[in-house]
Amino acid sequence: MAKELEEYLRVHIAQHGPLDIGQFMALALGHPQHGYYMKQDPFGADGDFTTAPEISQLFGEILGAWGADIWMQTGQPAAFTLLECGPGRGTLMADMLRATHQIPGFHEAVSIHLLETSPVLKEVQAERLADYEPHWHETLESVPGDAPLIVIGNEFLDALPVRQFVRTAEGWAERVVGQEDDSFVFGLKAAGPVELPEAPEGAVYEIAPARTAFVENLCKILEQNGGVALFIDYGHDRSASGDTVQALYKHEYVSPLEHIGDADLTAHVDFQAIGEAATHKGAEVFGPVEQGVFLKNLGIEQRAQYLRQKADDSQAEELQSGLHRLTHSDQMGALFKVMGVFYGDTIRPAGF
Ligand code: SAH
Repeated sequence: MAKELEEYLRVHIAQHGPLDIGQFMALALGHPQHGYYMKQDPFGADGDFTTAPEISQLFGEILGAWGADIWMQTGQPAAFTLLECGPGRGTLMADMLRATHQIPGFHEAVSIHLLETSPVLKEVQAERLADYEPHWHETLESVPGDAPLIVIGNEFLDALPVRQFVRTAEGWAERVVGQEDDSFVFGLKAAGPVELPEAPEGAVYEIAPARTAFVENLCKILEQNGGVALFIDYGHDRSASGDTVQALYKHEYVSPLEHIGDADLTAHVDFQAIGEAATHKGAEVFGPVEQGVFLKNLGIEQRAQYLRQKADDSQAEELQSGLHRLTHSDQMGALFKVMGVFYGDTIRPAGF
């Protein structure tokens, strides 16, 4: 466990009382010095987890084609903002941009913006995307409002904190992290006013005010400038009870109270809640559809076959296994979902 973060949490809890799960997630991931994303590159075999763009170039290439189609449908604006939320190593953006090189006018029109809080990952992105002169933002507030936007977020919303409520015999209580002797422990405190559906005793229900606020703020920008957002994440179509907070440390699931600040902490995305937040802001919502269905609708199998013809045996094998991992329902194909949020009623996004 990261000693400094542990110490910080101990003092914080001693002074202010137990943390709700949202505060705990926000600190474990985002504490300015000791948070998980602030101090390391978490991806790949040596890291804690692997994401779709790191699995295969097919993912970013297909999303590049998707973005180009949107740009064409909106009348090929001479300037537009391509914003990626939580770009990780910059691989998805690099693959999208490589795949769109041949599209006349696209690269002249695009300006690249990256929403990222991690100094370590910003450096990786700067190197990866040096040819494209990206602009970084820590919040949506500084994203320019002078051109239509195409926004992409892969495994971004799952990193934003959730709060958890547990149904007890007396009603809903909020789950918190406190300390007992030398250990961090889960506990419960009386829930403030909160509206939750009926559920049996013992049920856990998650809400994600930080995600809702993010989507609402993004919708404001999209409404003012025109544009679309595409979110890809693991999660469920319909709001439901269940404890989905999970910690991954070196590709193994651990308790969220172990390896605090050294393990990735995420929670499944409630796409119904995201969709409702966007609809309330006047957006048109597409999906969610399963990632496998979305990528196949966009021709990922044909793209893989085309690349295989030019590949040697080991590359062909890699393309095939990448395709399988991205699309098969035993792998990422069904657990991951895709949702589109749109302003502008002439656009018919592909893939849904
Ligand atoms: N999209 C990438 C990375 C996913 S991991 C991929 O698919 O490989 C989550 C990313 O979101 C990381 O880049 C992390 O640093 C960033 N991130 C997490 N919380 C954030 C926040 N509150 N604001 C901006 N970026 C955040």
